Amino acid sequence: MNKLVLGVDVGGTKIATAVVTGEGKVISRGYGSTSAQAGRRVVIDNIFATIDKAISSSNVALSQLSGIGIAAAGIIDSKNGKVIFSPNLPGWREVPLGDTVHQRFNIPTYLGNDASLAALGEWRFGVKKQVANLIYITVSTGIGGGIICNGELYTGVLGAAGEIGHMTIDVNGPRCNCGNIGCWETLASGTALAKEAVRQIKEGASTSILEFAGGDLAKVDAKVVFEAAKQGDKLANQLISRLGYYLGVGLTNLVNIFNPELILIGGGVAKMGNLLFEPAIKVVKERAFATSATSVQIKPALLGDDSSILGAVAFVLDNLAEGSTIHGG
Ligand SMILES: [Zn+2]
Repeated sequence: MNKLVLGVDVGGTKIATAVVTGEGKVISRGYGSTSAQAGRRVVIDNIFATIDKAISSSNVALSQLSGIGIAAAGIIDSKNGKVIFSPNLPGWREVPLGDTVHQRFNIPTYLGNDASLAALGEWRFGVKKQVANLIYITVSTGIGGGIICNGELYTGVLGAAGEIGHMTIDVNGPRCNCGNIGCWETLASGTALAKEAVRQIKEGASTSILEFAGGDLAKVDAKVVFEAAKQGDKLANQLISRLGYYLGVGLTNLVNIFNPELILIGGGVAKMGNLLFEPAIKVVKERAFATSATSVQIKPALLGDDSSILGAVAFVLDNLAEGSTIHGG
């Protein structure tokens, strides 16, 4: 019998839910606000309500669901279904989210890191497990990722592996939100792109980027720089090319360490397409060991905004298949 699973993606501003078949087909969806600033109780109520929305807009009864999978940013203890710490959810420390959701809906519930689960989703439902070694990267305000190694999600001892956005790329680089210096995401994320654009505009660079932001320096973001680049703005193109360069430096490290067959790049910044991919791939070809560089394909991710939600579903299916009792309840 075809299993039905409910996937949840808890973001900093939005919650997305979906009822999904065992083959990864979305049957119904729910959307809600996270209201993270309103505190933990409100966020949890919003998660409940958004789960209810996806169920009520499907023709599926709660009792027909095999499980609930939740993807959340931050340090997640998957074994115990706990959010240890989340940058998206202020004040959350050691929150037993798996337990809480399990108690409300009374079906097996599993919790994981959103970027790691996204890798799992892309692998299972995107490339349909056609490769055994895959790295998924999401480039947006920061850089996150997940690693499929020899046909399994690589988790590390505590489940905290895959924080690739925080590998040091420049020992003298900018300070990162994590406290370290010169992390990959301080140089190759959408935030890094916007910061560099603002810096150069303030220094009097000749560019139309500010016009695309309606003259408001505070509104200069990666999207605005991309719009200017598409209209031929020279600085915008240079900045994206520089971003691609730094992206390529980090990719080179990953290619040398993991020798993956496939690297999939998702997240808002990946929508820049070839403007970003070409310089990044060029750096990998120049810098990585030739055998690894020639055997890897670097491509846009396949599942768009659904990678984490489908990854959460894949995580439930894997746990059920293993007969795991991990559900925090
Ligand atoms: Zn960092």
